[in-house]
Amino acid sequence: MKMNIQLFAVPFRKVSKTRKRMRRTHYKIEANGTIKCPNCGAEIRAHRVCPECGFYKGKKAVGQEEQSE
Ligand SMILES: [Zn+2]
Repeated sequence: MKMNIQLFAVPFRKVSKTRKRMRRTHYKIEANGTIKCPNCGAEIRAHRVCPECGFYKGKKAVGQEEQSE
């Protein structure tokens, strides 16, 4: 069965500056690979020890070894 679909690229000059800018309002910079620390809730990079509380994988990985709480 033959598909009779032709796809046309939209000539970029036919998109007005306003329309182009409106479309690009959805393009945002976002920090990649960040998660919330399960211990203190701070935004941290994934697979890293939390700089706020020193926890990693639910354990205190940096700093004193005392387990308060
Ligand atoms: Zn933390």
